[in-house]
Amino acid sequence: MAFTIAIDGPAAAGKGTLSKAVAAHFGFGHLDTGLLYRAVGAKMLDGVEPVAAAQALDVGDLDRSDLRSAAVAEAASKVAVIAEVRAALVDFQRAFARRAGGAVMDGRDIGTVICPEAEVKFFVTASAEVRAERRFRELEDSGTTYEAVLADVRARDERDMTRAEAPLKPAEDAVTIDTSALSIDEAVAQAIAVIEARQQD
Ligand code: C5P
Repeated sequence: MAFTIAIDGPAAAGKGTLSKAVAAHFGFGHLDTGLLYRAVGAKMLDGVEPVAAAQALDVGDLDRSDLRSAAVAEAASKVAVIAEVRAALVDFQRAFARRAGGAVMDGRDIGTVICPEAEVKFFVTASAEVRAERRFRELEDSGTTYEAVLADVRARDERDMTRAEAPLKPAEDAVTIDTSALSIDEAVAQAIAVIEARQQD
């Protein structure tokens, strides 16, 4: 049986951790849709035209080891404003969302554009300062500063929220989880309670 959980929100709000925990709890598949945009961004940095890169994207491209770098994140948010890039990635995402056995999809536009019919939608957020602090702790050995990370977080938020194509915003029927003052366990418990209530409807 298909059951889709859409988890959207800005960078470093805790979507990835929450999505993995929810998928493991319910035994659902998990797709981090940011990886698709990162893979296209990485190809653009290699010199490939982004629309062609998106149209030729292969699941194997999601295994590249450099997809988590700051440079690729920046490139991802640049290719993500291109309508043809987004269009090329729609079918793959929708097919995954309706796979038998359930799916957790995390991204920016899952509840609004990719899966408006998702059974459960979350908007996971946190203040820019808290998100920059978390990202900074992950990057601590790389010689960057908290201020630089905060500036990156703000620039990416701005680009994601103000773009014409599928801007980042909560779906009307999304449940918002603000993780600024929540532990991972608390956020996961909130999400599981909402999903279990929906499963009983
Ligand atoms: O979530 P992640 O940080 O990996 O996403 C990288 C970039 O890809 C985001 O800043 C955003 O511009 C883009 N993206 C998107 N739609 C999604 C997932 C990611 O536009 N569903």
